Amino acid sequence: MAFPIKTCAVCGEEFELKPDKPGFANRCPDCSADDATSAKTKRGMDADERKSLSEVNEARREAMRSLLYRKDT
Ligand SMILES: [Zn+2]
Repeated sequence: MAFPIKTCAVCGEEFELKPDKPGFANRCPDCSADDATSAKTKRGMDADERKSLSEVNEARREAMRSLLYRKDT
């Protein structure tokens, strides 16, 4: 019996979407299990990671901008 092949939204791996698969339909079993087991502790970490990531992006953007300005003037 063949199951539909889905692409995991988290890691990008293709997986068989089985009817009894726990977790999200767009996540492979590995990522579903990872999310289910560490959801409580990971949620705070994710928020922190996202915050520091946006800070890094902002710093990078600002550095790029000052570089561009320096080129213009
Ligand atoms: Zn995955």
